Amino acid sequence: MLTDNHGRKINYLRLAVTDKCNLRCFYCMPEDGLNWLSRRELMSYEEMLHSCALLVKMGVEKIRITGGEPFVRKDIMQLLTSLSQLDGLKELSLTTNGVLTAPHVPELKKIGIRSVNLSLDTLDANRFFTITRRDEFANVMAALEALLSHGIEVKINAVVMDGKNTQDIIPLVEMTKDMPVSVRFIEEMPFNGDGHLYTGLQWDYVRILDEIKSKYPQIQKLPDPLYSTSYNYHIPGHQGSVGIIAAYSRTFCGTCNRIRITPQGELKTCLYDDGGLNIRDLMRNGSSDHELQGALLNAFGNRAKDGWEAESKRVLHPGIHESMATIGG
Ligand code: SAM
Ligand code: SF4
Repeated sequence: MLTDNHGRKINYLRLAVTDKCNLRCFYCMPEDGLNWLSRRELMSYEEMLHSCALLVKMGVEKIRITGGEPFVRKDIMQLLTSLSQLDGLKELSLTTNGVLTAPHVPELKKIGIRSVNLSLDTLDANRFFTITRRDEFANVMAALEALLSHGIEVKINAVVMDGKNTQDIIPLVEMTKDMPVSVRFIEEMPFNGDGHLYTGLQWDYVRILDEIKSKYPQIQKLPDPLYSTSYNYHIPGHQGSVGIIAAYSRTFCGTCNRIRITPQGELKTCLYDDGGLNIRDLMRNGSSDHELQGALLNAFGNRAKDGWEAESKRVLHPGIHESMATIGG
């Protein structure tokens, strides 16, 4: 079993395959995008597959593909197919904004993807445009429909933003009435690529729950699965469930089982750290698997105890100016 210096199991990798995106969600990146990585800076699919295979041998059981927007990267289905065939990998899933997803759903099903996280912050097409700065609401809804009709489990991720979409909290909860989806509200984090000034958290998990309770006082708490980052709830009579992710309050660090690899090969053992080990560089410099494994184990052995400690120890970029798209949300 792979563990860190605090005795926490590490078995979940989130791999960001690109920093590029076809939306410009204002909580994630500025309107004119980011300084996109060049092709050479990005890890190649071979490099990604190699690192994933090694990590699976070391104890990783679940991989989530994220970005940026995974479907913006050319031939992404090729990588997904190869990853789905990795010996020892128990679960492969992905997080997508849904814009280009619908046509790929039959193949996702075929290669064994059982669950997809779909980002959707509002059910109002105009507000969708204000938040994402792109007119793609219909395509996201088509992706939702395609995923559900193929029997793929859907978790909807909605970032809660003061003055932007708090009026969507109740309509999004209402979706769980007739749809077997899990709607998860995420506290807004400062990782917006300097898209706007982060003025501090206005809607924390307590306030979000209070808002839901104002309409659904009968809401019931569900038991939290091991390693869950969300507080989970169910409204009697509803098909789906509701979750709240305290991503800024960081209440889940004590059982954190996840690591991240950024599109340029940086290992992050915490969302709030600033990396330090670049596995792309190690591979390009000819490190053997044994050396790579040693470097990874060393990083796991020096993991911050929680997101607050990781943030306080940032040296490369002391302020948080990155975008979630370069970290791998
Ligand atoms: N493009 C894909 C998508 O949007 O689903 C995958 C990458 S995106 C960075 C992954 C998740 O991070 C999305 O659910 C998004 O809402 C979330 N996210 C991005 N910026 C965030 C922020 N500043 N605070 C909280 N969540 C954020
Ligand atoms: Fe793109 Fe996802 Fe960031 Fe929105 S949250 S800009 S869809 S990477």
